[in-house]
Amino acid sequence: MAGRAGTRLRLSLVAFCLAAIAALAGVLRAENRDPVHSETLYVFGTLVEVVIYGEPPQKAEAATAELGRMFQSFHRDWHAWRPGELGRLNDAIASGTSLPVDDELAAVLRQGQALSLQSGGLFDPAIGKLIGLWGFHDDVPPSGPLPDREAIARLAAAQPRMADLRFDGNIVSSRNPAVQLDLGGFAKGSALDLAAATLSRRGIRNAVLNAGGDVLVIGTHGAREWRVAIRDPFGWGAVAALSVHPGEAVFTSGNYERFLEQDGVRFSHIIDPRSGWPVTDIVSATVLDTNGARADAAATALCVAGPDGMAATARAMGADAVLLIDRNGTFYATPAMAARLQAASDAGEERPLPQMVIVPLQGDAAIN
Ligand code: ADP
Ligand code: MG
Repeated sequence: MAGRAGTRLRLSLVAFCLAAIAALAGVLRAENRDPVHSETLYVFGTLVEVVIYGEPPQKAEAATAELGRMFQSFHRDWHAWRPGELGRLNDAIASGTSLPVDDELAAVLRQGQALSLQSGGLFDPAIGKLIGLWGFHDDVPPSGPLPDREAIARLAAAQPRMADLRFDGNIVSSRNPAVQLDLGGFAKGSALDLAAATLSRRGIRNAVLNAGGDVLVIGTHGAREWRVAIRDPFGWGAVAALSVHPGEAVFTSGNYERFLEQDGVRFSHIIDPRSGWPVTDIVSATVLDTNGARADAAATALCVAGPDGMAATARAMGADAVLLIDRNGTFYATPAMAARLQAASDAGEERPLPQMVIVPLQGDAAIN
Protein backbone atom coordinates (compact mmCIF):
# COMPACT_ATOMS: atom_id res chain seq x y z
CA MET A 1 0.00 0.00 0.00
CA ALA A 2 1.35 3.45 -0.89
CA GLY A 3 2.50 5.25 2.27
CA ARG A 4 0.27 8.26 1.76
CA ALA A 5 -2.85 6.25 0.97
CA GLY A 6 -2.11 4.15 4.07
CA THR A 7 -1.77 7.28 6.19
CA ARG A 8 -5.02 8.67 4.78
CA LEU A 9 -6.81 5.43 5.51
CA ARG A 10 -5.45 5.40 9.03
CA LEU A 11 -6.42 9.02 9.60
CA SER A 12 -9.96 8.43 8.41
CA LEU A 13 -10.11 5.34 10.64
CA VAL A 14 -8.89 7.46 13.55
CA ALA A 15 -11.50 10.11 12.74
CA PHE A 16 -14.23 7.47 12.55
CA CYS A 17 -13.20 5.89 15.85
CA LEU A 18 -12.96 9.29 17.53
CA ALA A 19 -16.47 10.11 16.38
CA ALA A 20 -17.79 6.75 17.58
CA ILE A 21 -16.05 7.08 20.93
CA ALA A 22 -17.24 10.67 21.34
CA ALA A 23 -20.80 9.47 20.72
CA LEU A 24 -20.35 6.62 23.21
CA ALA A 25 -18.84 8.96 25.79
CA GLY A 26 -21.89 11.20 25.32
CA VAL A 27 -24.19 8.28 26.03
CA LEU A 28 -22.22 7.27 29.10
CA ARG A 29 -22.21 10.83 30.34
CA ALA A 30 -25.96 11.03 29.95
CA GLU A 31 -26.43 7.77 31.88
CA ASN A 32 -23.90 8.43 34.55
CA ARG A 33 -23.25 11.63 36.38
CA ASP A 34 -19.55 10.96 36.70
CA PRO A 35 -17.53 12.69 34.01
CA VAL A 36 -16.03 10.42 31.37
CA HIS A 37 -12.92 11.48 29.54
CA SER A 38 -12.19 9.47 26.42
CA GLU A 39 -9.37 9.91 23.92
CA THR A 40 -7.87 7.71 21.26
CA LEU A 41 -4.14 7.83 20.69
CA TYR A 42 -2.50 6.46 17.55
CA VAL A 43 0.62 4.73 18.84
CA PHE A 44 2.45 1.43 18.25
CA GLY A 45 0.84 1.30 14.82
CA THR A 46 -2.50 0.83 16.54
CA LEU A 47 -5.23 2.84 18.21
CA VAL A 48 -5.10 3.02 21.99
CA GLU A 49 -8.32 4.18 23.59
CA VAL A 50 -7.92 5.75 27.03
CA VAL A 51 -11.15 6.15 29.02
CA ILE A 52 -10.96 7.82 32.44
CA TYR A 53 -13.95 7.96 34.77
CA GLY A 54 -14.96 10.32 37.51
CA GLU A 55 -12.12 12.83 37.33
CA PRO A 56 -12.13 16.54 36.56
CA PRO A 57 -11.55 17.05 32.80
CA GLN A 58 -8.25 18.88 33.25
CA LYS A 59 -6.81 16.09 35.40
CA ALA A 60 -7.96 13.44 32.92
CA GLU A 61 -6.61 15.41 29.95
CA ALA A 62 -3.20 15.92 31.57
CA ALA A 63 -2.97 12.22 32.44
CA THR A 64 -3.92 11.15 28.91
CA ALA A 65 -1.35 13.55 27.48
CA GLU A 66 1.31 11.96 29.66
CA LEU A 67 0.30 8.50 28.45
CA GLY A 68 0.58 9.74 24.87
CA ARG A 69 4.15 10.92 25.52
CA MET A 70 5.01 7.66 27.27
CA PHE A 71 3.68 5.50 24.43
CA GLN A 72 5.59 7.57 21.88
CA SER A 73 8.82 7.13 23.83
CA PHE A 74 8.25 3.35 24.16
CA HIS A 75 7.60 3.19 20.44
CA ARG A 76 10.92 4.92 19.78
CA ASP A 77 13.01 3.21 22.48
CA TRP A 78 11.61 -0.33 22.18
CA HIS A 79 11.39 -0.61 18.40
CA ALA A 80 13.61 -3.39 17.11
CA TRP A 81 13.69 -2.21 13.52
CA ARG A 82 14.07 1.58 13.70
CA PRO A 83 16.94 3.65 15.05
CA GLY A 84 16.52 3.97 18.82
CA GLU A 85 17.67 2.50 22.09
CA LEU A 86 16.73 -1.13 21.34
CA GLY A 87 18.23 -0.85 17.85
CA ARG A 88 21.52 0.31 19.41
CA LEU A 89 21.40 -2.58 21.88
CA ASN A 90 20.83 -5.03 19.03
CA ASP A 91 23.86 -3.56 17.23
CA ALA A 92 25.95 -3.91 20.39
CA ILE A 93 24.85 -7.55 20.86
CA ALA A 94 25.65 -8.40 17.24
CA SER A 95 29.16 -7.00 17.67
CA GLY A 96 29.71 -8.73 21.03
CA THR A 97 29.72 -5.55 23.11
CA SER A 98 27.49 -4.22 25.88
CA LEU A 99 25.31 -1.12 26.19
CA PRO A 100 23.78 0.79 29.12
CA VAL A 101 20.03 1.20 28.65
CA ASP A 102 17.53 3.30 30.60
CA ASP A 103 15.67 1.96 33.65
CA GLU A 104 12.45 1.26 31.79
CA LEU A 105 14.01 -0.76 28.99
CA ALA A 106 16.20 -2.66 31.47
CA ALA A 107 13.11 -3.55 33.53
CA VAL A 108 11.18 -4.65 30.43
CA LEU A 109 14.08 -6.83 29.29
CA ARG A 110 14.39 -8.46 32.71
CA GLN A 111 10.67 -9.12 32.73
CA GLY A 112 10.88 -10.51 29.18
CA GLN A 113 13.68 -12.81 30.29
CA ALA A 114 11.65 -14.08 33.27
CA LEU A 115 8.53 -14.65 31.17
CA SER A 116 10.55 -16.43 28.52
CA LEU A 117 12.08 -18.78 31.10
CA GLN A 118 8.63 -19.52 32.53
CA SER A 119 7.30 -20.29 29.06
CA GLY A 120 10.04 -22.88 28.56
CA GLY A 121 11.33 -20.75 25.68
CA LEU A 122 8.08 -20.80 23.66
CA PHE A 123 7.88 -17.06 24.22
CA ASP A 124 11.27 -15.69 23.36
CA PRO A 125 11.81 -12.08 22.23
CA ALA A 126 15.45 -12.94 21.35
CA ILE A 127 14.36 -14.44 17.99
CA GLY A 128 14.36 -11.12 16.14
CA LYS A 129 16.52 -12.49 13.31
CA LEU A 130 13.91 -15.17 12.58
CA ILE A 131 11.13 -12.59 12.72
CA GLY A 132 13.07 -10.48 10.23
CA LEU A 133 13.81 -13.46 7.97
CA TRP A 134 10.10 -14.26 7.75
CA GLY A 135 9.33 -10.60 7.10
CA PHE A 136 7.05 -10.18 10.11
CA HIS A 137 8.99 -7.13 11.29
CA ASP A 138 7.59 -4.84 8.62
CA ASP A 139 4.44 -2.74 8.98
CA VAL A 140 3.28 -4.37 5.75
CA PRO A 141 2.76 -8.16 6.13
CA PRO A 142 4.99 -10.35 3.94
CA SER A 143 3.63 -11.81 0.72
CA GLY A 144 6.04 -14.68 0.08
CA PRO A 145 7.82 -16.71 -1.13
CA LEU A 146 8.81 -18.60 2.03
CA PRO A 147 12.32 -17.92 3.32
CA ASP A 148 15.12 -20.31 2.45
CA ARG A 149 14.78 -23.48 4.59
CA GLU A 150 18.48 -23.61 5.32
CA ALA A 151 18.53 -20.02 6.47
CA ILE A 152 15.65 -20.79 8.86
CA ALA A 153 17.44 -23.88 10.17
CA ARG A 154 20.69 -21.94 10.63
CA LEU A 155 19.04 -19.18 12.66
CA ALA A 156 17.13 -21.69 14.80
CA ALA A 157 20.30 -23.74 15.37
CA ALA A 158 22.09 -20.64 16.71
CA GLN A 159 19.52 -20.81 19.57
CA PRO A 160 19.10 -17.11 20.36
CA ARG A 161 17.50 -17.03 23.80
CA MET A 162 16.54 -14.42 26.39
CA ALA A 163 18.53 -16.60 28.79
CA ASP A 164 21.65 -15.41 26.91
CA LEU A 165 21.15 -11.83 28.14
CA ARG A 166 23.42 -10.62 30.92
CA PHE A 167 22.63 -7.64 33.14
CA ASP A 168 25.20 -5.67 35.07
CA GLY A 169 22.89 -3.06 36.57
CA ASN A 170 21.49 -1.44 33.45
CA ILE A 171 24.40 -2.55 31.25
CA VAL A 172 23.10 -5.25 28.93
CA SER A 173 25.05 -7.77 26.89
CA SER A 174 24.47 -11.21 25.39
CA ARG A 175 26.70 -14.24 25.46
CA ASN A 176 25.18 -15.22 22.12
CA PRO A 177 25.62 -12.79 19.19
CA ALA A 178 22.68 -14.49 17.39
CA VAL A 179 20.31 -12.77 19.84
CA GLN A 180 18.28 -9.98 18.26
CA LEU A 181 15.60 -8.49 20.46
CA ASP A 182 12.08 -7.91 19.14
CA LEU A 183 9.65 -7.03 21.92
CA GLY A 184 6.51 -7.28 19.72
CA GLY A 185 5.23 -10.30 21.67
CA PHE A 186 4.75 -8.42 24.95
CA ALA A 187 5.53 -4.71 24.47
CA LYS A 188 1.86 -3.78 24.34
CA GLY A 189 1.24 -5.57 27.65
CA SER A 190 4.24 -3.90 29.31
CA ALA A 191 3.20 -0.51 27.95
CA LEU A 192 -0.33 -0.86 29.33
CA ASP A 193 1.06 -1.96 32.74
CA LEU A 194 3.31 1.11 32.86
CA ALA A 195 0.44 3.33 31.72
CA ALA A 196 -1.77 1.93 34.51
CA ALA A 197 0.97 2.64 37.05
CA THR A 198 1.22 6.22 35.78
CA LEU A 199 -2.54 6.71 36.09
CA SER A 200 -2.47 5.38 39.66
CA ARG A 201 0.41 7.69 40.51
CA ARG A 202 -1.68 10.59 39.26
CA GLY A 203 -4.50 9.56 41.56
CA ILE A 204 -6.73 8.19 38.80
CA ARG A 205 -8.61 5.20 40.12
CA ASN A 206 -11.02 4.24 37.36
CA ALA A 207 -9.91 3.84 33.76
CA VAL A 208 -9.83 1.50 30.79
CA LEU A 209 -6.95 1.15 28.33
CA ASN A 210 -7.88 -0.55 25.09
CA ALA A 211 -5.16 -1.22 22.52
CA GLY A 212 -6.95 -2.67 19.52
CA GLY A 213 -8.97 -5.15 21.61
CA ASP A 214 -6.21 -5.88 24.13
CA VAL A 215 -7.60 -4.35 27.29
CA LEU A 216 -6.53 -3.44 30.81
CA VAL A 217 -9.06 -2.20 33.37
CA ILE A 218 -8.31 -0.10 36.46
CA GLY A 219 -11.01 0.29 39.10
CA THR A 220 -14.61 0.40 38.00
CA HIS A 221 -16.66 2.65 35.81
CA GLY A 222 -20.14 3.09 37.12
CA ALA A 223 -22.32 0.05 37.59
CA ARG A 224 -21.42 -1.70 34.35
CA GLU A 225 -18.37 -3.85 33.77
CA TRP A 226 -16.17 -3.44 30.75
CA ARG A 227 -16.99 -6.09 28.14
CA VAL A 228 -14.42 -7.36 25.70
CA ALA A 229 -15.44 -9.23 22.59
CA ILE A 230 -13.30 -12.17 21.49
CA ARG A 231 -13.04 -11.74 17.79
CA ASP A 232 -14.11 -14.48 15.42
CA PRO A 233 -10.79 -15.55 13.89
CA PHE A 234 -12.59 -16.96 10.84
CA GLY A 235 -14.71 -13.96 9.95
CA TRP A 236 -16.40 -10.85 11.20
CA GLY A 237 -18.02 -10.46 14.58
CA ALA A 238 -17.29 -12.07 17.92
CA VAL A 239 -17.33 -15.69 19.09
CA ALA A 240 -17.63 -14.86 22.78
CA ALA A 241 -17.31 -12.03 25.26
CA LEU A 242 -15.69 -11.44 28.63
CA SER A 243 -16.60 -9.04 31.41
CA VAL A 244 -13.30 -7.67 32.63
CA HIS A 245 -13.07 -7.00 36.36
CA PRO A 246 -11.05 -4.20 37.94
CA GLY A 247 -7.33 -4.90 37.77
CA GLU A 248 -7.68 -7.44 34.95
CA ALA A 249 -6.21 -7.54 31.46
CA VAL A 250 -7.29 -9.50 28.37
CA PHE A 251 -4.83 -10.11 25.55
CA THR A 252 -5.31 -12.04 22.32
CA SER A 253 -2.68 -13.23 19.86
CA GLY A 254 -3.70 -14.58 16.54
CA ASN A 255 -2.89 -15.25 12.94
CA TYR A 256 -5.75 -13.29 11.39
CA GLU A 257 -4.05 -9.91 11.06
CA ARG A 258 -0.42 -10.50 10.25
CA PHE A 259 0.54 -13.69 8.45
CA LEU A 260 2.12 -15.12 5.34
CA GLU A 261 -0.04 -17.31 3.12
CA GLN A 262 1.50 -19.85 0.79
CA ASP A 263 -0.24 -22.71 -1.06
CA GLY A 264 -3.28 -22.47 1.20
CA VAL A 265 -1.25 -22.61 4.42
CA ARG A 266 -1.40 -19.61 6.71
CA PHE A 267 1.85 -18.95 8.55
CA SER A 268 1.19 -16.89 11.68
CA HIS A 269 3.51 -14.03 12.70
CA ILE A 270 4.22 -16.10 15.80
CA ILE A 271 7.27 -18.30 15.40
CA ASP A 272 8.23 -21.45 17.28
CA PRO A 273 11.74 -20.57 18.53
CA ARG A 274 12.70 -24.28 18.53
CA SER A 275 12.14 -24.86 14.83
CA GLY A 276 12.22 -21.33 13.42
CA TRP A 277 8.87 -22.01 11.69
CA PRO A 278 5.67 -20.06 12.30
CA VAL A 279 2.63 -21.51 14.01
CA THR A 280 0.08 -22.85 11.50
CA ASP A 281 -2.55 -24.68 13.50
CA ILE A 282 -3.58 -22.16 16.16
CA VAL A 283 -5.61 -19.22 14.99
CA SER A 284 -6.00 -17.41 18.29
CA ALA A 285 -5.05 -17.49 21.97
CA THR A 286 -6.73 -15.28 24.59
CA VAL A 287 -5.46 -14.83 28.13
CA LEU A 288 -7.32 -13.15 30.99
CA ASP A 289 -4.92 -12.16 33.75
CA THR A 290 -4.06 -9.50 36.32
CA ASN A 291 -0.87 -8.41 34.56
CA GLY A 292 -0.73 -7.05 31.01
CA ALA A 293 2.82 -8.17 30.15
CA ARG A 294 2.17 -11.70 31.39
CA ALA A 295 -1.14 -11.93 29.55
CA ASP A 296 0.48 -10.70 26.34
CA ALA A 297 3.52 -13.00 26.59
CA ALA A 298 1.38 -15.98 27.58
CA ALA A 299 -0.98 -15.45 24.63
CA THR A 300 2.04 -15.57 22.31
CA ALA A 301 3.55 -18.62 24.06
CA LEU A 302 0.22 -20.49 24.02
CA CYS A 303 -0.08 -20.10 20.25
CA VAL A 304 3.22 -22.02 20.05
CA ALA A 305 2.24 -24.52 22.78
CA GLY A 306 -1.01 -25.51 21.07
CA PRO A 307 -3.63 -27.68 22.81
CA ASP A 308 -1.11 -30.35 23.82
CA GLY A 309 1.20 -27.95 25.64
CA MET A 310 -1.57 -25.61 26.81
CA ALA A 311 -1.98 -26.81 30.41
CA ALA A 312 1.75 -27.04 31.14
CA THR A 313 2.57 -23.65 29.59
CA ALA A 314 -0.36 -21.87 31.23
CA ARG A 315 0.55 -23.37 34.59
CA ALA A 316 4.24 -22.48 34.27
CA MET A 317 3.42 -18.88 33.30
CA GLY A 318 0.79 -18.50 36.01
CA ALA A 319 -1.98 -17.84 33.47
CA ASP A 320 -5.18 -19.50 34.69
CA ALA A 321 -7.75 -18.31 32.20
CA VAL A 322 -6.86 -19.30 28.64
CA LEU A 323 -8.82 -19.85 25.43
CA LEU A 324 -7.26 -21.41 22.32
CA ILE A 325 -8.93 -21.77 18.93
CA ASP A 326 -7.36 -24.06 16.36
CA ARG A 327 -7.63 -23.87 12.61
CA ASN A 328 -10.43 -26.47 12.56
CA GLY A 329 -12.49 -24.20 14.77
CA THR A 330 -12.09 -26.29 17.94
CA PHE A 331 -12.17 -24.25 21.15
CA TYR A 332 -10.00 -25.24 24.12
CA ALA A 333 -10.61 -23.46 27.42
CA THR A 334 -9.19 -23.80 30.91
CA PRO A 335 -11.89 -24.11 33.60
CA ALA A 336 -11.17 -20.55 34.82
CA MET A 337 -11.73 -19.21 31.30
CA ALA A 338 -14.79 -21.35 30.63
CA ALA A 339 -16.36 -19.97 33.82
CA ARG A 340 -15.92 -16.41 32.57
CA LEU A 341 -16.89 -16.69 28.90
CA GLN A 342 -20.23 -15.24 27.89
CA ALA A 343 -22.25 -15.36 24.71
CA ALA A 344 -21.39 -12.56 22.31
CA SER A 345 -24.03 -10.45 20.69
CA ASP A 346 -23.73 -9.88 16.97
CA ALA A 347 -25.77 -7.05 15.52
CA GLY A 348 -28.07 -7.21 18.53
CA GLU A 349 -28.51 -11.00 18.33
CA GLU A 350 -26.99 -13.32 20.88
CA ARG A 351 -24.61 -15.85 19.40
CA PRO A 352 -24.53 -19.06 21.47
CA LEU A 353 -21.20 -19.97 23.00
CA PRO A 354 -19.38 -22.57 20.93
CA GLN A 355 -18.74 -26.07 22.28
CA MET A 356 -15.43 -26.21 24.09
CA VAL A 357 -12.88 -28.78 25.10
CA ILE A 358 -12.13 -28.06 28.76
CA VAL A 359 -8.43 -28.39 29.51
CA PRO A 360 -7.70 -28.65 33.24
CA LEU A 361 -4.52 -26.95 34.39
CA GLN A 362 -3.64 -29.86 36.65
CA GLY A 363 -3.37 -33.36 35.21
CA ASP A 364 -3.30 -34.22 31.57
CA ALA A 365 -6.72 -35.35 30.45
CA ALA A 366 -8.93 -33.02 28.47
CA ILE A 367 -12.67 -33.25 29.13
CA ASN A 368 -14.96 -33.03 26.13
P1 ADP B 1 -0.15 -9.15 18.45
O1 ADP B 1 0.98 -8.28 17.99
O2 ADP B 1 -1.11 -9.52 17.37
O3 ADP B 1 -0.79 -8.71 19.71
P2 ADP B 1 1.55 -11.06 19.76
O4 ADP B 1 1.44 -10.44 21.08
O5 ADP B 1 1.48 -12.52 19.74
O6 ADP B 1 0.46 -10.56 18.76
O7 ADP B 1 2.92 -10.61 19.14
C1 ADP B 1 3.39 -11.17 17.95
C2 ADP B 1 4.76 -10.59 17.69
O8 ADP B 1 5.67 -11.13 18.64
C3 ADP B 1 5.33 -10.95 16.32
O9 ADP B 1 4.96 -10.02 15.34
C4 ADP B 1 6.82 -10.92 16.61
O10 ADP B 1 7.28 -9.58 16.62
C5 ADP B 1 6.91 -11.43 18.03
N1 ADP B 1 7.07 -12.89 18.14
C6 ADP B 1 6.82 -13.87 17.21
N2 ADP B 1 7.02 -15.09 17.71
C7 ADP B 1 7.43 -14.91 19.00
C8 ADP B 1 7.81 -15.81 20.06
N3 ADP B 1 7.79 -17.13 19.92
N4 ADP B 1 8.18 -15.24 21.23
C9 ADP B 1 8.20 -13.90 21.42
N5 ADP B 1 7.85 -13.02 20.47
C10 ADP B 1 7.47 -13.51 19.27
MG1 MG C 1 1.64 -11.40 22.87
